Amino acid sequence: MSHVVLLTSPVQIQAMKVHYVNALVSKLPPGSIFSAKPPLCTVTAYKSGKVLFQGKNAEIEAAKWQKDAAVPKEKPASATSTVKVHGYLPPANIATMSVIGSDEVGTGDYFGPITVVAAYAKKEQLLLLKELGVQDSKNLKDPQIIEIAKQIKDVVPFSLLTCDNPKYNMLQAKGMSQGKIKALLHNQAIKHLIQKIQPEQAEAVLIDQFAQPNVFFNYLIGQEQFQANATYLSTKAEGIHLSVAAASILARYAFVKRFDLLSEKAGFRIPKGAGFAVDEAAARLIHEKGIDALNDFTKTHFANTEKAKRIYQKKYGK
Ligand code: MG
Repeated sequence: MSHVVLLTSPVQIQAMKVHYVNALVSKLPPGSIFSAKPPLCTVTAYKSGKVLFQGKNAEIEAAKWQKDAAVPKEKPASATSTVKVHGYLPPANIATMSVIGSDEVGTGDYFGPITVVAAYAKKEQLLLLKELGVQDSKNLKDPQIIEIAKQIKDVVPFSLLTCDNPKYNMLQAKGMSQGKIKALLHNQAIKHLIQKIQPEQAEAVLIDQFAQPNVFFNYLIGQEQFQANATYLSTKAEGIHLSVAAASILARYAFVKRFDLLSEKAGFRIPKGAGFAVDEAAARLIHEKGIDALNDFTKTHFANTEKAKRIYQKKYGK
């Protein structure tokens, strides 16, 4: 049985407690702040600032925090660095591992849902996925994405969640931030997929990062959190592991299909994004279907709603 000791700050111990919230144990050793049992490991944080990791996964668990423990808080981020250093960055060999990757689409689009996909790519499949054209979807056009998605949907196990506009608007009106909505969807999709691939286990989960890890895990407080052998968060994760690239392509595919349905329902082609064309289309929708239709088609809290109302008044108002 291996063990690792890290010397950490109170802030970091708090972040750890949040991270292990679903694995906390009630019986505390003397002098400890919390103790938790994630898979194959026991984590105990002491008032002295020492955190002890014990068990088969001790090194894996400790590695999540090692960087933060070693990097002083005040260290300024390098101006050229695009990835912020934190304890959840994936290891150098991630690209060759069997990984569950997750990504979402639609968060910046006024029309249409948010779709989140978690996809599992085994190391033996990585070459095939590459051959099927899986790559960073930012380099692909929608028709290519659709073609690739159709090919990979039977190759990689995945879990898709769609948060349609009425649901999204309801959650948002209840005070839930978009970040939290996304975090909950990622968590659910990953949990579903972990279930689906059982008894097989991914070596790691890699989430395309949209919030700092402490913020992300804060969103999941009170939720049953997915349990993985290792969890990594990184921006630009599509370029780090093909599972995330596949997830992104499948999420985009689902989004585009849903978007087509919305166009059909609207009776005209609705545009993507959140620019002026979107405002005009929303004004037309108000004119043809009434203001309440926005709830079924759009993310109503976007500034586009007010702009669309103004255009509607000007163009169609009596
Ligand atoms: Mg993303």
